[in-house]
Amino acid sequence: KVNMNDFMNALEEVHPAYGVSEEELEQVVQNGIIHFDNTVDEMLRSGGLLVEQVRSSQRTPLVSVLLHGPPGSGKTALAASIAKASEFPFIKLISPDNMVGYSEPQKVQAITKVFSDSYKSPLSVVVVDNIERLIDWTPMGARFSNSVLQALLVLFARRPPKGRRLLIIATSSLRPILTDLGLSETFDSELRVPPITDIASLDRVLREVELFPSERQHQEAIRMLTEAGFGTNKEGNMNSRMQIGIKKLLSTIEMARQEPDNVAERLLNALIGLGM
Ligand code: ATP
Ligand code: MG
Repeated sequence: KVNMNDFMNALEEVHPAYGVSEEELEQVVQNGIIHFDNTVDEMLRSGGLLVEQVRSSQRTPLVSVLLHGPPGSGKTALAASIAKASEFPFIKLISPDNMVGYSEPQKVQAITKVFSDSYKSPLSVVVVDNIERLIDWTPMGARFSNSVLQALLVLFARRPPKGRRLLIIATSSLRPILTDLGLSETFDSELRVPPITDIASLDRVLREVELFPSERQHQEAIRMLTEAGFGTNKEGNMNSRMQIGIKKLLSTIEMARQEPDNVAERLLNALIGLGM
């Protein structure tokens, strides 16, 4: 006997052709968003303002923003968070990770499809993650997929049909090459996602992930890291040797956590081992 529950379960198993890819959005924000610095809140706020602009302004049915910053600084997670917070009926993530093994025409087709699907929804967000990998950028000989680039150029500039509104959030770790590729002019605004460079941010992150079981151990670790030159120096000048993306920092912390003894030393050594 088929009951209402079976019916509802069956519905859930059918992946909608368009809509919101919740799972995917959650997956790229696996470790949440830690508010380690004012810049984090500022970026989320700026993202929120762009969302509101798309939602309410009659004059700007298409708004695009580029999130750029060093590898692992949290671009994908922030883009996905801004997208998710919009609560728009259509939110899709175009990621090179989902296109492994695709031929160039297949990539162009997949990317184009996401955009044409977005035009069916009154309000949409499309996250175009990691542009350089999407176009298969190779620094050696500066090679890339021209057909994917051309598709992006067209789609970034195309106004959605009447009554439809779209926010494009793109990410890149290679801001300078985008200018050469003619891509940077297509964005209405840019947000820089900086790496972590100060001890106060490191302090916030270490607290948030509860690396140290006691306040004393936490303080001891901060003292050790400060003495080793991670963060502000004695004169209070910013003279930090630290320059680390939140993604790398979190994985470094998890490695240090594996050995309960000397967690602080292990963290310090791992940070030094990264060439800092
Ligand atoms: P890549 O250059 O490799 O593409 P990325 O800059 O896109 O890396 P993410 O993949 O977004 O970096 O990784 C950031 C990770 O850090 C995610 O797991 C996210 O949940 C976590 N995170 C914690 N706090 C923050 C924050 N304030 N901003 C961004 N990400 C954060
Ligand atoms: Mg990324």
